[in-house]
Amino acid sequence: MNEIILIKNGEMALKGLNRASFEDTLIRTLRKSLRVCGQAVIRKAQSTIYIEPQENFDFERACELVSKTFGIAGFSRAAMCEKSLQSIQETACVYFESVLSGTKTFKVEAKRSDKQFPLKSPELAAEVGGALLSRFPHLKVDVKQPEVTVYVEIRDFGAYVHGAQIKGAGGIPVGTGGRAAILISGGIDSPVAAWMMAKRGIQLTAVHFASPPYTSQLAELKVKDLLRKVGVYAGTIALFTVPFTEIQEAISEQCPEEFFTVIMRRFMMRVSQKIAKKRDCGALITGESLGQVASQTIGAIRCTDQVCELPVFRPLIGMDKEEIVSISRKIDTFDISIRPYEDCCTVFTPRHPRTRPHLHDIEQAESVLNIEELVERAASGAAFELIEQEESF
Ligand code: ATP
Ligand code: MG
Repeated sequence: MNEIILIKNGEMALKGLNRASFEDTLIRTLRKSLRVCGQAVIRKAQSTIYIEPQENFDFERACELVSKTFGIAGFSRAAMCEKSLQSIQETACVYFESVLSGTKTFKVEAKRSDKQFPLKSPELAAEVGGALLSRFPHLKVDVKQPEVTVYVEIRDFGAYVHGAQIKGAGGIPVGTGGRAAILISGGIDSPVAAWMMAKRGIQLTAVHFASPPYTSQLAELKVKDLLRKVGVYAGTIALFTVPFTEIQEAISEQCPEEFFTVIMRRFMMRVSQKIAKKRDCGALITGESLGQVASQTIGAIRCTDQVCELPVFRPLIGMDKEEIVSISRKIDTFDISIRPYEDCCTVFTPRHPRTRPHLHDIEQAESVLNIEELVERAASGAAFELIEQEESF
């Protein structure tokens, strides 16, 4: 049986004039991510993307990967055969054998985009339905509410038989929305934020702040594991690991404790922005959610944003922890996020942070530090690594 994947026009979440470039980006992404499954021909024709396996292709895994590719609202697994009635009937009987053995009602829907085919769509549906009825005599046709619908399509290259559409990941193809830098900790929130922005077509660069010896090597490994998971959706991610110890020690020694968190976050933004600009990123992304902790109040966010020239995307801002956790389970980052390693934020956490800091006080508290030098040293000392998407899941 020659099984292929069909991603049809209506199933691609693509828009207007950008359509052609969206499709090309999507095809490029699929070519790269499906390489791990073996050889396949991936091509576009009649507003449909065809994924046609060659020898030894891992089809199940390919379907799983396609379901995690942004830009695809849905797709179909289909059996391909010759454009003859007999071949279509035989293919439908074999391809649907296990499904139809366990159901009572069905119908056939046929579509003929190749008008050379001698039967019209309703005739074709009736002929295929007849063949299925004689092969599976326990079945009844129910055109209103069938348990199973068998779809038959006659297209340019061949005939296709398939079942209901499988839901895709939605969103728009990664790379069509520009680039942005995600500030990634080892927590639950930032990987979810990364995933949400990749869904809007953003190509991610990641920035992680590490404070050895206060934070361990295991925390850095955790971040890489998280990015490998996010990468299943977002593709390869460039990771910058920033040495943050010097900055944290300087703040802790020279600034009032109650402002520590906001000042630290302002430094994170400044360093991230430097890296973002070098990487041609047009925005920053964080996993903040309003009210979750002291640094995530309107006042604290305002103080943080004052040092940012780039827009800051906070896709989780209005979400509850529960909603965030449910996405993190779905994208399989949750179990990694809850590994118990110290993050740089928790190491110096003040006992009584200000929830309503005044910008003026913060700026004054900070002014004892040599900000530019500290930022420059941290940004230029960042270690760079390309994190490839996880290959087995
Ligand atoms: P998360 O679950 O993402 O760690 P959180 O709820 O623990 O978030 P904070 O620790 O206050 O919240 O961090 C808020 C945001 O700041 C994070 O979502 C992330 O974007 C960024 N951030 C925090 N710590 C780091 C870090 N060590 N490196 C990079 N970014 C960080
Ligand atoms: Mg955190």
